Amino acid sequence: MVKKYRCKSCLYIHQGLEAPSVCPKCGAPREQFEEIPENISKLIDRSNYTNGLLMNSCYLIDKLQELSIKGIDDNLDPGCLYIFRHMNEITKILKSMILAEINTHVQKGKWG
Ligand SMILES: [Zn+2]
Repeated sequence: MVKKYRCKSCLYIHQGLEAPSVCPKCGAPREQFEEIPENISKLIDRSNYTNGLLMNSCYLIDKLQELSIKGIDDNLDPGCLYIFRHMNEITKILKSMILAEINTHVQKGKWG
């Protein structure tokens, strides 16, 4: 059964049947690895899933920001300008919120 092992030197997480002979990140020997309990392992999987959703959202928000800037530059009429300016503001706020949340995950070690 595949398990997760964490390097106590650099916190690198390895997935496999056993810990690697050498840490691929920092070169620490196998003895430096500790098995991550099943319940924590599941939390890491959940965090990775949510982090992926947040990263994909950031990608789409960047696209919306590009469109909003094009729309503002185009300035067809007041109605369109209002929409694109609003889109520009909302996407800036959303992106800041998402980056802050991802940063919180990293601080708490939720970034598997
Ligand atoms: Zn390591």
